[in-house]
Amino acid sequence: MEKFDVIVVGSGLAGLTAGLEISEEGKSVLVIEKNKVLGGRTSSWNEDGMIVESGFHRHIGYYKKMSEVLQKVGVDVDDIVQWEEKVDIRIKGKNENAVFGISPIFGPIATIKGALGNNDILSLNDKLSLIAFFTNGFLHYIKNPDELDQLSVRDYAKKFELSENALHYAIIPLSAGIFFLPPERYSAKVFFGLFLPGIPRFYKMRIGGYLGGMTDILATPIANAIKMRDGIIRVNTKVNRLLVEEGEVKGVLLEEQTKIYADYVVVAANLAGAKAILKDDFSTHPAFSDMFQLPTMPAVTIQMEFSEPILPYDRTTFTPLTSIASLAEQSRSTFTHVPGRLSLILTPPEKFLPMQPEEILKIVQQDGRELGLDLESGLTNYRVVSHPEEFHSLEPNHDHLRPDQQTPIKRLVLAGDYTRQPFFATMEGAVISGMKAAELVLGKSIL
Ligand SMILES: Cc1cc2nc3c(=O)[nH]c(=O)nc-3n(C[C@H](O)[C@H](O)[C@H](O)COP(=O)(O)OP(=O)(O)OC[C@H]3O[C@@H](n4cnc5c(N)ncnc54)[C@H](O)[C@@H]3O)c2cc1C
Repeated sequence: MEKFDVIVVGSGLAGLTAGLEISEEGKSVLVIEKNKVLGGRTSSWNEDGMIVESGFHRHIGYYKKMSEVLQKVGVDVDDIVQWEEKVDIRIKGKNENAVFGISPIFGPIATIKGALGNNDILSLNDKLSLIAFFTNGFLHYIKNPDELDQLSVRDYAKKFELSENALHYAIIPLSAGIFFLPPERYSAKVFFGLFLPGIPRFYKMRIGGYLGGMTDILATPIANAIKMRDGIIRVNTKVNRLLVEEGEVKGVLLEEQTKIYADYVVVAANLAGAKAILKDDFSTHPAFSDMFQLPTMPAVTIQMEFSEPILPYDRTTFTPLTSIASLAEQSRSTFTHVPGRLSLILTPPEKFLPMQPEEILKIVQQDGRELGLDLESGLTNYRVVSHPEEFHSLEPNHDHLRPDQQTPIKRLVLAGDYTRQPFFATMEGAVISGMKAAELVLGKSIL
């Protein structure tokens, strides 16, 4: 009979963080991952000769816990990201980009220039209405975040009479670019809440594109550190359900029907995965009823290789009023082995989920034409990567359904970006949830 102190289900950042923190305390840890690669939504792999990833990610300069976890396994964030102090907004029908500085400390001139310039896109009135919108949103979040969850970003914009221009060229790019959703489907709580933790650390603000595939630079170093502490990582292994005896969790049952026992099980799967693991034993348990009601939402990305770079620099670009939420050239940062590499995240994701890759390619190429980008002539390879149920819904009235890491079931702990923590569905949020799960297992504070 195989037995561990702790089984962690899922090798995303939440599961790996929990596994690392727990194994550091001398406990025997088994991490079980159903996929063949580590990293969950922060993974990269070779798909029939093309290196693809779960989707292009940006490391936000004010992420703290994620940087600390990486530091612990010998990875300095500055060595694995290419920092950007600016973002571009590319407007349909205009063959040019508006450039906005986002980093008051690392790129003060660009930040001032971006705020004072770009007047043909955002007039002084548009900018003033944006300042009022954000100030009110942040204050509202501090006073009553749950009330804010009843409104969408578009409702909030209407309430504060945000100008149409500001909505189109600032809020739509931000809402689609960050969580792939149009403002009418995006909870105002999630929208303002995501920026808020950055305010006390505004001096750290900039965004980083990774210098390599995420499985190699994020997941593998953490997994190796777990192994160095005698932990075991098993990929290609799916957990079917929990082993529950007399109301206590005793371990897990694998798909191939093997039982593995443990003193604690940390379910660090994505929301749909966690529901599937828990459903036989707890779908009617009142403590899990909110979690079972919390809907999931998809994400769809297309990753394209070209005979030469499409953009003159690797920078996050928002493209409002198109089906592309955001895009980034990556051939000088993440995927330097190819001459041109563009990664695009699509919006709204549900529209693309049932489509064939060729159909998606055509839509993206058409949008590219309207954005002044030729995504046809030099195309050498492409892949569509879909995440049908990987996110929890960020739509209004859903945030209160997110569960805590602690459950009333003895020896069962949850982790994952959908569990309650202040960074919503982000890498930092996943890491914090993993630390909170480890605290519950270890019975001591580590955050
Ligand atoms: C396209 C895209 C772009 C993103 N951009 C950003 C960004 O720019 N910045 C940012 O901070 N965040 C971004 N995110 C969000 C970020 O990736 C996630 O918030 C974070 O990675 C979630 O980690 P997690 O560990 O909670 O879940 P996951 O990474 O989903 O890990 C869960 C793991 O559990 C495994 N699993 C599920 N069921 C089972 C089972 N039965 N048995 C065994 N294993 C199981 C899964 O295979 C998976 O590996 C993005 C996500 C996507 C998809």
